[in-house]
Amino acid sequence: MREKKWIDCPICGAKKSMRHERGLHEDFELPEYPALRVPKLDGQFCSVCGEGFWSLKSERNIAERVAEHMAAVDATRVVAAELASVQEAAQRMRVSVQGVHKMMKEGRLRFVVAGGRRLPLRSDLPEARSAGAKWA
Ligand SMILES: [Zn+2]
Repeated sequence: MREKKWIDCPICGAKKSMRHERGLHEDFELPEYPALRVPKLDGQFCSVCGEGFWSLKSERNIAERVAEHMAAVDATRVVAAELASVQEAAQRMRVSVQGVHKMMKEGRLRFVVAGGRRLPLRSDLPEARSAGAKWA
């Protein structure tokens, strides 16, 4: 996907107000998780209204960091019975094992890190009978 270069602000309509900015950070308040700050972000922001967009790279970075943050916290409070193997998750969602790893990395499937391996949360998987429907 190609990055769109903004010149005029699409939010407030100011002309030639969009600037590329680096070295930004964003604080995330996630329910039931400690606050998370994601540093080293960049994006295009309006010098008039302050609204703007993260770059695609920063959006991916945020999704990965939030997923890792939640996994680290969940690892301290999730019991083994709530975890599925990557193979089981792949079967339930009818995707490849690689697909499951990709979804965890991109923050589309919650997981915890146990014994150095990423294990999907069972509660995030579709029921065996309706497998595929949720992810179609
Ligand atoms: Zn603006």
